[in-house]
Amino acid sequence: MTDPLAPGATIGILGGGQLGRMLSVAAARLGMRCHVFDPDGAAPAGHVAAAVTSAPYEDHDALRAFAATVDVITYEFENIPAGALDLLEGATPVRPGRKALKVSQDRLTEKAFLAELGLATAPFAAVDDAQDLAEAIAEIGLPAILKTRRFGYDGKGQARIDSPDAAAAALDAMNGAPAILEGFVDFSQEISVIGARGLSGEVACFDPGQNRHRDGILRSTSVPAQLSAAQRADAVLLTGRILNRLGYVGVMGVELFVTAGGLIVNEIAPRVHNSGHWTQQGCSIDQFEQHIRAVAGWPLGDGGRHSDVEMENLIGEDMDKVPGIAREAHASLHLYGKADVKPGRKMGHVNRVAGGARQA
Ligand code: AMP
Repeated sequence: MTDPLAPGATIGILGGGQLGRMLSVAAARLGMRCHVFDPDGAAPAGHVAAAVTSAPYEDHDALRAFAATVDVITYEFENIPAGALDLLEGATPVRPGRKALKVSQDRLTEKAFLAELGLATAPFAAVDDAQDLAEAIAEIGLPAILKTRRFGYDGKGQARIDSPDAAAAALDAMNGAPAILEGFVDFSQEISVIGARGLSGEVACFDPGQNRHRDGILRSTSVPAQLSAAQRADAVLLTGRILNRLGYVGVMGVELFVTAGGLIVNEIAPRVHNSGHWTQQGCSIDQFEQHIRAVAGWPLGDGGRHSDVEMENLIGEDMDKVPGIAREAHASLHLYGKADVKPGRKMGHVNRVAGGARQA
């Protein structure tokens, strides 16, 4: 156990998107500074961080100089090149650690890890070519979803297979990348748990949120989720088991399918998560502060939920709604400072608080 970082310490963040931006704001509130590393000089976190290094992850001199200015390194995305991590780990603690990244970067490794923990996942099989796919379909059945093992996000790198005729086109859509076939899960709801584990091993989870997706992209999360007490407890306990098995330090998002037969783990994200943005208005300590506390070696905060919240993502042209939302009562806007509006691009979100604390 190392000493907690003192106010004035510097946290390095790999990745300068909206998650890095909101982490930087949370760190600043605790009197800490953030140094963001991102190849894009205009990355949203750069507007609010104390320092920015804009260089590619292959620039080892830039990485070394970055590591020399920070007390701990964290990240806002899971696909950090291995070479960069090798170098950084030798210089400064990286939290969450390598194991969590290794598990979550590859859907096959992730599923195997979850299965080994005894947690339910969709049936799955590795697919590298047409023969593997035919065998996987025979074993798992249809409908199923073919997904690239790596670099998939927001529903990208996925193809649904409803009939055997669709198999060849789905394989083509993988562009030769190693893939995994997943049986289609008949779920009643999608939920996620945002969990945290501190440096001393303490675990705390936020209340599960209920997620709605469109075109593979998260549109909204609402709390409380419509769950029984047993389902809620199960969701939180399985998240704790994942965090402990990984010796994790920081905040993690665990996406789950709710089915008649119990909870099925879809995927884990070793970082703060879009489906946890509601915590900014629903809890005294939000997911961003919780993550900063954990990686800084502070005690975890009380993430108990004090309000019902609906978080809506503002995607692409949803930005046109901003003037109207700005006039709404009990609506907290979070805009990411991205200059260009593009279809499918996450531009911001709004947290609408119902009843309770914020109503006069
Ligand atoms: P993912 O990128 O794996 O989170 O998938 C994006 C979305 O696709 C999920 O949130 C689900 O709505 C849907 N999905 C992914 N995998 C499955 C599955 N095995 N069965 C049913 N729906 C799925």
